[in-house]
Amino acid sequence: MTIKENLENVQARIRQAASFARRAESDIQLLGVTKYASDEQVQELIDAGLTTLGENRVQNAQARLERFPDAQWHFIGRLQTNKVRFCEKFALIHSLDRWNLAQAIDSRAGQWGKIQDVLIQVNVSGEESKTGLSPSEVRSFAKRVLQECDNVRIRGLMTMAPLLEPQAVRPYFRETRLLYEDLQQELGVTWDILSMGMTNDFEVAIEEGATLVRIGSALFSEEDSV
Ligand SMILES: *Cc1c(COP(=O)(O)O)cnc(C)c1O
Repeated sequence: MTIKENLENVQARIRQAASFARRAESDIQLLGVTKYASDEQVQELIDAGLTTLGENRVQNAQARLERFPDAQWHFIGRLQTNKVRFCEKFALIHSLDRWNLAQAIDSRAGQWGKIQDVLIQVNVSGEESKTGLSPSEVRSFAKRVLQECDNVRIRGLMTMAPLLEPQAVRPYFRETRLLYEDLQQELGVTWDILSMGMTNDFEVAIEEGATLVRIGSALFSEEDSV
């Protein structure tokens, strides 16, 4: 399979999942996660038409941003506050998960003269290995960011489900979606990005309301996909 074929495959699966859930395909954005890919593969993906891409490590991302400045880059990994200074070019940071990071982004964005778009990362499974705020912490956190961080714009939520069979992750996606809706109502804001679903589970995530899926392996695998 070429990368172009992989992309067409993933797009077809997104279309199918959307149709199954009676949602418009255009409501679901595909983010190509390039952390396992070579530069040549990234170029192939861009040539095939996918130009919204994500990296999870600041160091790699730096090089990628320089090499592929015309793509739109998202940051999806754990972010240390002392690395925020390298993040000016990211269109979206998916991993806001603590107050000192919000402050660091706010102050840098002020220097950059931009409003930084972010998602709040939620840990709905409670797994220790996963970063993200617990659902009960998100409300007051979001409120504080809204009140105190003028240079940060919350666009929605991001979550990573536990590594289980696709059907077993459904409750985690559902809970995140409910939280996403409740919070908008309670806080009186309108969000537009619910980032959930990866290679292993994106169809279920779409059924449960994801508006952005983050896909790596399925795009870069050389094997025939099932
Ligand atoms: C690696 C990664 C992905 C993509 O994972 P795949 O299983 O390869 O699709 C998505 N989101 C985050 C945060 C990641 O680190």
